[in-house]
Amino acid sequence: MSVKRGRHFLQIPGPTNVPDRVLVAIARPTIDHRGPAFARLARRAFDLTQRIFQTSGPVVIYASSGTGAWEAALVNTLSPGDRVLMCETGHFSTLWRDLAVRLGLEVDYVPGDWRRGVDPEVVGQRLADDGRGAIKAVAVVHNETSTGVTSRIPAIRRAIDRAGHPSLLLVDTISSLGSIDYRHDEWGVDVTVGCSQKGLMLPPGLGFNAISAKALAASANARMPRSYWDWAPMIRDSQAGFFPHTPATNLLYGLCEAVDMLLEEGLANVLARHARHAEATRRAVRGWGLEILCAVPEEYSSALTAVVVPDGCDADAFRAVALDRFDLSLGAGLGRLKGRVFRIGHLGDLNDLMLAGTLCGVEMALAAADVPFRRGGVNAALEYLAAAPVAV
Ligand code: PLP
Repeated sequence: MSVKRGRHFLQIPGPTNVPDRVLVAIARPTIDHRGPAFARLARRAFDLTQRIFQTSGPVVIYASSGTGAWEAALVNTLSPGDRVLMCETGHFSTLWRDLAVRLGLEVDYVPGDWRRGVDPEVVGQRLADDGRGAIKAVAVVHNETSTGVTSRIPAIRRAIDRAGHPSLLLVDTISSLGSIDYRHDEWGVDVTVGCSQKGLMLPPGLGFNAISAKALAASANARMPRSYWDWAPMIRDSQAGFFPHTPATNLLYGLCEAVDMLLEEGLANVLARHARHAEATRRAVRGWGLEILCAVPEEYSSALTAVVVPDGCDADAFRAVALDRFDLSLGAGLGRLKGRVFRIGHLGDLNDLMLAGTLCGVEMALAAADVPFRRGGVNAALEYLAAAPVAV
């Protein structure tokens, strides 16, 4: 294997690049998780996390990947055999559905074509048809990481309200938090699922549930077996700045540093930066004459862009060339999109030149892998970046 120099380009849609400031924070000595210094750290971590979710309610922090936080949202709010409405937006909505089925929930899975987001009208109709109130929760993925499509959560909330249905609304923000506008309280979400390794610029290892008062009330009657994921001891101990078990201490240092960085930049600026990089990326893709997988411009993701390769090409072979020749990691096509798309992650700790380098790597790798394309995509992106204002 040849020796690589310079920084690896990690441009998958998560895990994302971890800023040096966060790496340094995580490198601090681990402390006693039952001592006063830890309580100060944890209180700060809880406060800062609330600001990112835009909630004044409790946020539970697990030592887990996103999948654990998915499971926590379901087992804390539901009972065996409860009906859940989920919508097929791509690979991750399908994995969440499979998890719910394995837990013994009845899932109504609204079919989708993996090119568009949740249709709020369909959600509203399914709920309006559910006169007996059998559906206990609507569970949707905000940013479908497998497709680069962002669903419109406020419109889904309005559809639930118009149907006058008491269902809980559970939202996966695993690849949107810290990169795409999201407001737990204002949008009336009951459980928001998040994790550390994407917009929050942290390594993998933290999972989050932001919890509404309605979800908390539901958890008192929910009968799904739960132990590690149980909100009650987590919320009880968090009041004093502690956890019922050994927490991921060093990741909490990193969490405080990462959220400090996001707040220093200003959340509005963070979102504008992501939107700008996403637009530059789409201009590059169009310039290459390739197709953006997302079929609905209003649902374009600011976190990633999934690119369809021409018929007869293998997206994984192209990605292997990008990695081997240019030390650039791009996201694979997942599930039914395997080999059909590659995904450019443009979320997290990213600036114009990092994006430009990424797009240069893609353009060079397209040529090296003999993928039919037009040259000039990078130029289109650079022209946009040079002209478009940076901050709001
Ligand atoms: N949901 C979404 C939208 C994701 O992108 C992912 C992972 O990429 C998951 C859930 C699963 O999270 P994890 O792999 O951290 O368990």
